[in-house]
Amino acid sequence: MQDKNCIFCKIVKKEIPSELVEESKNFVAFLDVNPKTSGHTLIIPKQHFTNLMDMPAELGNEMLEMAKDIAERRIAGGAEGINLIMNNNPAAGQVVMHAHLHLLPRKKGDGLRMVV
Ligand code: 5GP
Ligand code: ZN
Repeated sequence: MQDKNCIFCKIVKKEIPSELVEESKNFVAFLDVNPKTSGHTLIIPKQHFTNLMDMPAELGNEMLEMAKDIAERRIAGGAEGINLIMNNNPAAGQVVMHAHLHLLPRKKGDGLRMVV
């Protein structure tokens, strides 16, 4: 199921270009267009779910497997740490209303300030 007005659904359908990082049966990962750190990646379900609460829990393991795989590759490539962040609903900072997990490679002193 897709939402024809959703920018991330358009990325899944390749109607909008993105820099693909990884793809699995139900997920796709691509570079954030406005990266907060080098390698900032978004992991999204191919189906249009609004956020975590809308997404079937059965998909959680596949999403985490992809996050773990990308995290391991970023660490092997020189990242010193990884943050995983999911904004759910506008009050929590969600702007694009298609569920997505931010994967942020970190280095000591990279200057990114986290809220939590
Ligand atoms: P949110 O605040 O909803 O958690 O984050 C949405 C993220 O999507 C932002 O970091 C933003 O830079 C990214 N983004 C928005 N539009 C596009 C796009 O068209 N392409 C890509 N690659 N990233 C996008
Ligand atoms: Zn969507």
